[in-house]
Amino acid sequence: MTITKCDICKKEIKDSDKSVSARFHWASKQFCIDCGKLITNFLLKNKLISAVEINK
Ligand SMILES: [Zn+2]
Repeated sequence: MTITKCDICKKEIKDSDKSVSARFHWASKQFCIDCGKLITNFLLKNKLISAVEINK
């Protein structure tokens, strides 16, 4: 079983948790919802990501 961790705070993301997937041009990252909100606002504003997805 793979454990997904938030790329910023390293908190474990369980399947039942909300999380954010951000697709960068070079990689795709997973964040918990708290970090995800912060980072996606910043990244989208600066056009640094190609796609973002909120998983519920
Ligand atoms: Zn986090």
